[in-house]
Amino acid sequence: TKEIKEVLDKLNIKELNAAYSTGLVWGKPTSKVTKDIFSPTDGRLIASVCIADKNDYEEVITQAEKAFKIWRKVPAPKRGEIIRQIGDRLRLYKAPLGKLVSYEMGKIYQEGLGEVQEMIDICDFAVGLSRQLYGLTMHSERAEHRMYEQYHPLGIVGVISAFNFPVAVWSWNAMLAAVCGDVIVWKPSEKTPLCAVACQHIVAEVLRENNLPEGIFNLLIGDAEIGKFMANDNRVPLVSATGSTRMGKQVGQAVGARLGRALLELGGNNAIIVTENANIEMAIRATVFGAVGTCGQRCTTTRRLIVHEKIYDAIKERLISIYQKLPIGNPLKEGVLVGPLIDKEAVSSFTHALKKVQEEGGKLLIGGQVLSGEGYESGTYVTPAIVEAENHYETVQEETFAPILYLIKYSGEVQNAIDIQNAVKQGLSSAIFSTNLLETERFLSHWGSDCGIANVNIGTSGAEIGGAFGGEKETGGGRESGSDAWKIYMRRQTNTINYGTALPLAQGIKFEV
Ligand code: NAD
Repeated sequence: TKEIKEVLDKLNIKELNAAYSTGLVWGKPTSKVTKDIFSPTDGRLIASVCIADKNDYEEVITQAEKAFKIWRKVPAPKRGEIIRQIGDRLRLYKAPLGKLVSYEMGKIYQEGLGEVQEMIDICDFAVGLSRQLYGLTMHSERAEHRMYEQYHPLGIVGVISAFNFPVAVWSWNAMLAAVCGDVIVWKPSEKTPLCAVACQHIVAEVLRENNLPEGIFNLLIGDAEIGKFMANDNRVPLVSATGSTRMGKQVGQAVGARLGRALLELGGNNAIIVTENANIEMAIRATVFGAVGTCGQRCTTTRRLIVHEKIYDAIKERLISIYQKLPIGNPLKEGVLVGPLIDKEAVSSFTHALKKVQEEGGKLLIGGQVLSGEGYESGTYVTPAIVEAENHYETVQEETFAPILYLIKYSGEVQNAIDIQNAVKQGLSSAIFSTNLLETERFLSHWGSDCGIANVNIGTSGAEIGGAFGGEKETGGGRESGSDAWKIYMRRQTNTINYGTALPLAQGIKFEV
């Protein structure tokens, strides 16, 4: 459409006959394999991209290795200045980039803008961080000795990202890694490569203006093959991979086998607990945003709602009445709250999960249809579903990346709800709605939620960049973004300095020669 053509022009999306970029140079592929990218929004072909192969991969790694030798010598605050400029450039491109995210991935425009805002926020965070890569100093047990630790850059950081946050996840990793002195090789999801091409162009403008070399920010467009190259490559000391638990297990094993570092951000099975002491209206709003936002395709999507029996029916009724009126349609249209699923494969996992959960005894309360007709030509629009279920059902135990909310009843104490919440393999995000301090504190205590994120009177999704983001158990254990998550992008070195003329040994060991 004219609108999308304008967006692509504004973002200077060219070079679609290239399979990789090392910053300024866009490389022509040797493989000639291409992939058509269709928008889940209207089913139209947006563009075809080239898929990188092993030769392209080698070229990128060679450039990245060269660039690392230069970049690591640039003082960290000066590296931060480059990130400041990238953040400013993202501010300029916020509207078109947000639109492209929305059109290529299918999330509503508001969420597309939010995703770009997250990129801007992490740039700001990284700029400040560039002057705060602190190590500790320690008192030595030996006289006339000094001890301290410093953090050094690691080298090449491989970033494998998922389709559902096609730009933010890269920026969380890339901006921190860059101020830490690392160089980045990004393999975006093969489902959303155009957003990545757009980001690479934005970064290239800044690199060009600052006369920086090739190889600091690299992009490889490809499928799982490229991810596997990175996972098995000793030249890539850290692989940060975001995606399904299935993918994370493969990447984790490959990286572990060579004793590299893996940062894994995998699937969630997030729950909100609503106790009898909850502000029900707040709980309902948070649940709806968490369950149907991004059409249920966030790693932090609310998948289970664990409700006290005393308020269960009231909550069920309210949710059904809201779901009946959900505006579903073109995510670029104002007022629409639910866009499409990413592709038809996602639609079949949605329908398959609904069928299976009903066979297991679940009761479909609302939704579950695949929409067709005008406005829904792509075949990827569905009506979000609510299912009454039990936590132990196989379907409930799995993450189906679609808008299915399982309604689960609990009785008695809040501990019963917490036990249900923790009884899944994943451990990403969790929330409780309660105005009772004893309940909320128990939820946050060490015998409470076992997740990486635990919220009170806030839903499971929509994290801020200032905190460390990630989860436990099959979510992979990695932490990205704020707090001290930067440490994984650096190697720690402990230094002991003797400024005396004797050579005392630690632990008082005598060793006279
Ligand atoms: P996916 O696992 O299919 O793909 C993710 C990325 O991994 C893609 O770039 C893909 O090409 C690559 N890949 C797949 N198999 C690989 C392998 N064996 N080796 C190396 N790379 C491989 O996931 P998806 O469908 O794009 O995204 C949805 C999933 O991502 C959900 O499970 C969601 O919960 C998860 N996710 C997690 C977070 C988080 O921070 N925890 C954030 C976003 C998405």
